[in-house]
This record gives sequence, structure tokens and C-alpha cells, in this order.
Amino acid sequence: MQKSSIQYLGGIDNKDKGVTLTGSATLLKVQGEYQTLSVLIDYGMFQGGLKDSDINQLVDEEALNANCIVLTHAHLDHCGRLPLLVKEGYKNPIFMTDLTKKQIFHILSDHVKIVRYEIDAVSSQNTKKSNLYKRALYIKDMCKRLKENNLSDEDKQKFKSGLLKKLQGKNQSEGLKEAEGLLSAAGIENNGDIEKILQDLPVLFYDEKDIDAMMKLVQKLEIGGEKVLKDYMYITSLDDDDLDKTLQAVKQGYSQPINVDTKLLIPLKTKLNQRIGVTEKAIDENLRITKENNALQEELIEAFNFITEVGQETAREIYDRYMEKLTEYNIESLDDIEKAGEQLYYIKFDLDTLYNTRNQFGGVEIDYQKDIIDAVKLRFLDAGHIEGSIQALITVVTEKIDNCLRSKNPVPLPKKRATHKNLLFTGDLGRFKDPNLAGTPEISDLKLDYLQMETTYAGRVHPEKQESINDFFNAIHKAEGKVVIPCFSMQRTQEILVLLVEQLLEAKNDIPVLKKKSAKLKRIEDELKNLQGGNLEKKRIPARQQAKIDRVLGLKNELKKEIKELKSRCFQYDIILDSPLSTEITNIYTTNLFEKYRLLSNQVQKELLGKPVVDVLLNQSDHNKLYTEKRRNKKEIILSSGGMCQGGSVLNHLKENLGNTQSTIIFVGYCPDNTRGGYIKNKKSIEIEGGLYEIYANVVNINGFSGHLDEEEIFHYFEKSSFARGAKVVLNHGTESRHILANKISEEIFGCRSSVKVLVPSLNDTIEFKL
Ligand SMILES: [Zn+2]
Repeated sequence: MQKSSIQYLGGIDNKDKGVTLTGSATLLKVQGEYQTLSVLIDYGMFQGGLKDSDINQLVDEEALNANCIVLTHAHLDHCGRLPLLVKEGYKNPIFMTDLTKKQIFHILSDHVKIVRYEIDAVSSQNTKKSNLYKRALYIKDMCKRLKENNLSDEDKQKFKSGLLKKLQGKNQSEGLKEAEGLLSAAGIENNGDIEKILQDLPVLFYDEKDIDAMMKLVQKLEIGGEKVLKDYMYITSLDDDDLDKTLQAVKQGYSQPINVDTKLLIPLKTKLNQRIGVTEKAIDENLRITKENNALQEELIEAFNFITEVGQETAREIYDRYMEKLTEYNIESLDDIEKAGEQLYYIKFDLDTLYNTRNQFGGVEIDYQKDIIDAVKLRFLDAGHIEGSIQALITVVTEKIDNCLRSKNPVPLPKKRATHKNLLFTGDLGRFKDPNLAGTPEISDLKLDYLQMETTYAGRVHPEKQESINDFFNAIHKAEGKVVIPCFSMQRTQEILVLLVEQLLEAKNDIPVLKKKSAKLKRIEDELKNLQGGNLEKKRIPARQQAKIDRVLGLKNELKKEIKELKSRCFQYDIILDSPLSTEITNIYTTNLFEKYRLLSNQVQKELLGKPVVDVLLNQSDHNKLYTEKRRNKKEIILSSGGMCQGGSVLNHLKENLGNTQSTIIFVGYCPDNTRGGYIKNKKSIEIEGGLYEIYANVVNINGFSGHLDEEEIFHYFEKSSFARGAKVVLNHGTESRHILANKISEEIFGCRSSVKVLVPSLNDTIEFKL
């Protein structure tokens, strides 16, 4: 029999290719004698930002030719490249649960919108970059011409005033960059270099002494005969050479008369006077240029000192970056700049492609068993990760493979018991200890021949969820003004909504009790007033009456304490949902069967709470109403996407609230340090869409809301699963730490003598096996 295989096309981090653990994609090939059946499990997007743009354009040939696709859940890193496959010609079915089918279309079209927005943002960045390139080109050109000493006066002036202006300009960092660029491009590292440049600049060589010598010469010229020639200097021609030699002698102190031929005396005097005039002008010019050069020298020295102060290292670095960009994009001219802008980003797929893709979604429900072919059966197990998520169990009936996978004339099967091979692809798995809205992962009761397991949180244990929930509500109770919760649109938003609404329901039961006790307090206070009435006239109170007053006073204090506690429990708040995608997804959940999600429908809210408490923001004017002078500091809870504050409607709320000491920002999900959310947690100011925002709001970080199982839960999964002899276990969708986990699982779960192998494949690896 031919060998079947599994290939790992994504979901594995690979430093060489620069991809993160996103982009889940696994290809199963069931090999028959005559034909192959290939099943693609997930085809997700690599989500490492712009740098993954290229890899997300590529479609694996094998994926394109798959006989069907099974989608585990609607997260973008599992479904994001499906439209691209369809665009490239994939026409076979895509299986998923009904709920995933409902979500996926919203997720993907939301993605198209975000990409459009990104393209706009990138193109405006490109304009900015173009300006940078243009300036770099200018500097490069100026420095080259400065070195070659062929700058026109105008250019020289521009160059110098530009440098000076930048240095004194309002924007110091801009000026610094410019000056650094100029100096570094001109090869200036120290003061010596500055002098060298100045030496190359034009300087005339006349000075005052030349004029002096010429005046003297005019006075000393005498008409003389041949007799005196032996004793005195004698000029016989109007040649410049002759004249220069004589001038040199006078300059060096020759003080005797100088004889000259009769007919030469007048022309010589005229020539010398003309030369005096020219030299005077030259000296003026000389002075002017020297002054100019000195000024340039001063500026260069000033710039140099300025840069030395902030560090030549930084200067060099910034300049190198400048030049690196020019080289990287091959920029020699302005045309090249335009081209470089175009290369930076392009759209992955459009809405038309998306509609075509939707026609191919063949949703099946959880636990639905589908025969891909008679010999290969697909079953969905609950994954408990997000609503609608599943693990894909593929069961291969070994004896039937050859029979099914041939083009014509199936032969009758031999009459013996069929052998099944069970292959399980978990996709992302939810938690056992603290299940979210999607519930708990289901563990297969079959003996597994192959298990492919997500190990995103290898090496980590999540904090207890209940503690996180308590911290969450503490932060809300303490808040004075608006509370902004950056939230992932899918699952996390719904989970937080349910928590908040449940809390409101609890409060609802306390409200009548509070009312009763408040009325009772008022009665007691009235009674107390009556009893103490006489005290106003400072008369002595009889002992019996005093005892009664003390008793009522005790009652009052006790009641007050109870009311205070009740009031904190009965805390009422309005919930604002501003997240277009999660509003769509939430609608899907409200029509779902689970009672919990129905809490969110307006009708149920009215029934249970008397009024709807979740207000959905639809447009800019709804947004503006939240921040009128009167309402700005009203305590309201705003749930808004996205969770890491990289983009989405949450940016609008951050702009309004970050600078407000009354506001609170609560992070309830995964948010690494290098995202905007991470910066908000750790820094004092943050840039949003070109503006800088100081952070005065109270920022709270709550861990423990993960939708992925942790290492303890991964072990739980293994302890409860059973494996066939020679089974293969593959850990993917995780970082480097899954290598350590693989060893631990080998040793602690299977033991060193086990026939079960735990593998950690690299990107694009293929493993082969017999079915
Ligand atoms: Zn996921």
C-alpha cells in the first residue's frame, strides 16, 4: 500500500521565513492504490503585520488542489486565506459548523474593511516617507557637490541656511536628522574634516602686501642708461614675468632705484596702476569669501558640536537608516520614490472574492458526521475555544481506501471486520478549568492513531479565572468616570457582556431589599428626632429615655452599614457596545440556543432588568453624544474593539479618555508589550493616528481571560485520551517551548518504552505513515 502523509503548511513559527505561529494550515493526504484524497484542515492568515503581506499572497499548490477543506473555527489565523484559495480557483466544499459559517463571513468582510483602512494609512505614510527620501536625495546631492566644490552661490546659500534653519528650527529632532545627514554624507567626523572641506573652497591669493609692493615699484621706476645697469635692477619689457620678478624683489626689501627704458616708463606705470586697482578688488572679494568660509566653518562646527553632544553614534545611525532606505528601494531619482511607494502594500482579496467564497461554505453542525467519501469520515468534536469551534476527527476505514479511491468500478469489499484509523486535529482548544461561553473541549473516546494538538500556551499556567473576574469588578466599582474596555470582537466581548449583565441581574434582586431598608432607616431617623427633641433645650434626659435613644441609635448605625453594602452590590451602570463586528457576532449569539447569550437581546434585557442596558453605538454622532460636557465623566462602561488597540473603534475612545484622570482603561485579554495596548500599559504617552496623547487615565491589566488551554490542561487532555499502538502525536501552533513540552509528554504521559512518538515538525515538513 502507498504511504499517506500529513504536511504542515502553517501554524508553526519559523524565524528564517519570519513567520509567527499564525497561518494554521495542515494537509492530510489519504493515499489509495489508484488515487489520493487530500483534506486541508484550516487555511489561516499569517498575522505578523505588514511583513507577512507577501507570504499571505502565496497559495500552496497542494492546498489549491485539495478535495475538501475542514475549518476548525472562525479566527482569522485559521480561515483568513480561504478567499485567496477561491480566488485562485479552488471549487471544492469547505466544511464548518453553522455557527462558524455565520461568523466567518462577518470576520472576513471586517478584515477587508480593515485592510482598506490600512492601505489608506500606509499610503499616507508613503507620502511622508517620500518626503524623507526627497530630502535624503537632496542632501546626498548637496554633499557630493560640496565635496567637488562646484556649488553655485545660490546652492551654497541654500545649503547653509537650510542647515542653520534646521538647527535652530522649532522641531529639533527634524533639524537634527537633517544636520546629521549633511555632516555624515559630507564625511565629517571631526573638526579636521571641516578644515579640509574649507581648503577646497576657492580663496584668492592676493593680499595687502602685493599692493604695497606695487606702489613702491611705481615710485622707484627711473629712466636710466646702460651704465647703471650693473648696479640697479632694470626692466626691459612689459612682460608679466619680468614685472612679477621685480615685484617679488621689492616685496622682499630691495630698496635701490629700478631703471626702465624711456619708452616703457609710462605704459609700465599705467599697467601697475591698473594692477593695483584689480588687486584691491580681489582683496575685497578675498575678504568676502574668507568671511563666508568662516561663517560656514562656524556653522559646521556648531552643527558638529551639536551632534557630538547628542552622540555621533545616533547621528551615524540615523544617517545610515536614511541611506539604507534609499538603497533598499533602489532610489536614485524621484520616479524611483513613486515606485517604492507602490511596492509597500497591496490588498489580499476583495469583497467579490469573499461573496464567491461564501457560496462554498458547506456548514455542518457539531457532532455531525459527514462521509467525505465512504472510506473517510469526518466528525466534529466541541473545542470550547470560541463559539462554533470544533476539533476535526477524521476516521479512515482502511479496507475501503483502495476501493473508494479509484476512478471506476469499485470492487466488493472482503468480508472481514473493517479497521479504523482515527486522526484528530484539535484546532485551538478552550479551557477545562475555566470554560468560556463556548464550553469545555470534548475528549475523544476513540483510540487515536494521530493527534495534532495546539500548544500555544506550552510552558504556562493561567491564573484562576474567578480571581480575574473579582479584579475586573473591583476595577469597575472603583472607577469614577468612563470605563473603556478594549475587547476582541469575537468571544471576549460577548463573555464580558455576559459577566456584566449577570452582575446587573444579581443587583436587581437586591434593589427591593435596599428600598425596604432605606424606608426603614427613614422611620428610625424620624423616631430618633422625636426622642431627641427635648435635647435641643439642653434639659436633662431621663435615664429611661436615654436608654431608648441609645437602642434606636444602635439600630440606625447597623442599618446604615447594611445599606452601604447593599448599595455597592446594587451598583447600576450603562453598558455601551461600540464594535461593529462584535455587534454582528453578538446578534448571532442572541439567536443561538444557549440561554446565556439571550441575556443580550433587548427583549430579554427588558424582561429581566426592566430596561435594555446594552446600548449599541452605530455612528459618529452616537459617539459624540458620549462625550458632551455633561456626560464626559458619567460612569459608563464602553466595550470596544480591538483588544490590542492596534486599530478599530477603540482608538476613538482612547483619544477621549487617556488624558482624563477620571477615566479607567481595563485590559482583559492578551496584549503583548509591542502592541499599542502594551504601550498604554507601560508608557506615559502614546501616538494614535498621528497625534500624541498623554496618559493620565487609570490603566488596569487583568490576566486570566484566555480562550486557550494552558500546560496543565494540555496534560489533562493527554491523560484522558487513549492512543493506539504506534500512534503519532504532533504539537503545533505554539512557540519554541513546545519542544520542551514534547519531551515532558513523552516521558510523563507515554514513558520511554512507549510506541507512541511525540513530534514537533517544522514549517512545511511532511510526515508519512501507513493507514
Ligand atoms: Zn483561535
